[in-house]
Amino acid sequence: MTETKETIEIGWNLDNSYESLPEIFFTKQGLSPITSPKLIILNAPLATFLGLNVQALQSEEGIANLVGNKIPKGASPLTQAYAGHQFGSFTMLGDGRALLLGEQITPQGEKVDIQLKGSGRTRYSRGGDGRAALGPMLREYIISEAMYGLGIPTTRSLAVVTTGEPIIRETEQPGAILTRIAASHIRVGTFQYASQWGEREELKALADYTIQRHFPEGINNENKYLFLLKEVINRQAQLIVKWQLVGFIHGVMNTDNMTISGETIDYGPCAFMDTYDPATVFSSIDVYGRYAYGNQPNIAVWNLARLAETLLPLLHSDQEQAVEIAQEEVSNFAQLYQNNWFAGMRAKLGIFNEEPEDKILIEELLGMMHKHSADYTNTFRALTLDMCSHTELFTSPEFKHWYQKWQERLSRQQESKDSVQQLMKKNNPAIIPRNHRVEAAIEAAVKNGDYSVMEQLLDALSNPFEYSEKQEEYAKLPKPSKQKYKTFCGT
Ligand code: AMP
Ligand code: MG
Repeated sequence: MTETKETIEIGWNLDNSYESLPEIFFTKQGLSPITSPKLIILNAPLATFLGLNVQALQSEEGIANLVGNKIPKGASPLTQAYAGHQFGSFTMLGDGRALLLGEQITPQGEKVDIQLKGSGRTRYSRGGDGRAALGPMLREYIISEAMYGLGIPTTRSLAVVTTGEPIIRETEQPGAILTRIAASHIRVGTFQYASQWGEREELKALADYTIQRHFPEGINNENKYLFLLKEVINRQAQLIVKWQLVGFIHGVMNTDNMTISGETIDYGPCAFMDTYDPATVFSSIDVYGRYAYGNQPNIAVWNLARLAETLLPLLHSDQEQAVEIAQEEVSNFAQLYQNNWFAGMRAKLGIFNEEPEDKILIEELLGMMHKHSADYTNTFRALTLDMCSHTELFTSPEFKHWYQKWQERLSRQQESKDSVQQLMKKNNPAIIPRNHRVEAAIEAAVKNGDYSVMEQLLDALSNPFEYSEKQEEYAKLPKPSKQKYKTFCGT
């Protein structure tokens, strides 16, 4: 393997702490070089945040690093082993098409994984080709960066590079590699793997590593494994609330796609809801609605229960007591979720303080939105701008009645009208990555090599709370279409 010479210029500062784990957790991985890499998009602000030189990353050397043709200095590429419940069935998985270069230590001292997704076959590829198509990698880039703009914890996208090699899916498609940045790639499924195939000592090593990396404040806790479980539950409750508040549907909340760090990961068949309906599902394979919008909190609890089970041997030496402790923690999710959700919904309605009737006010609004098939984002946008007219919902007598109640509620708090609007603007995005816009951006890029549509979209989405004139275009709804929007797994 050749090492990059110009490392100082690019700015790599890599650690490989994952290698300190017992060897069942990873496999050292050689490179699968590709012939003609071409940089499609580079996230300059993210590169700078990582301490990488934007210019140097665009050089031949830099691009070679981003496709795994050359190993950056200090990198020690590996693939991670994990398992997971996929649509409820447990199976062995692992990085089948991804490579962990190492952990970049940022100028601020943060440690983040640098992963190449679509980098070739690995020990965990099973029947797959280890590659990724350009369309789905651009989709992950757009949606993950949109989530970041929305202030939602997420893995991020540093770059997409085409490989010059076609890959075969339903049709032939250009191959691409996405550089993904994550707090770590430790998943609920990593713990399931340790629990299923590891010894107690290996499970303990994973838990200790995770605490050290993500929850160092718990190291000296008298039951640090309980602390770990509590923290993961807390972070997931906060994360799922954030998804619900903006109408994000992950689409494939398998336990291998749930991080321990609390970041959203794996943007496959995800999409944002247009019309408010808790039963909304976009993924073509989710025929029973397991991962429907309204079911996401329940699935999170289900996944967290799987995590808790893996930790039982560490929670207490007595199995029964361990189960009791775990059950109590998992059952706390509901309250954490509810509290965060109500707080978020109040903010969306410009409410600063708490009154018991707020719950009814919120539920009534959602009920009407459902009944009148109102657009989720634009309803809150219109309430924020106080421009409620034209739609079936806004012209209905029941809405007018509700609106009156809401105004009365707002007048019972001390904050000025202006402060109310400021709060609402901070909590109701003016724009989201609308499905038709995301599709148009990807189509222009993949079919015509025109990246301007995507760049403009990304620019608008980088500040979704701006309420600027240039965003108006992106707030428009798609033309009514008979066919329901469908997403497909990003393979
Ligand atoms: P995902 O649907 O991306 O969460 O992937 C689920 C599992 O399938 C993971 O273990 C992936 O590494 C693996 N996988 C997905 N696509 C491919 C592919 N093209 N080649 C090999 N493994 C894959
Ligand atoms: Mg996955």
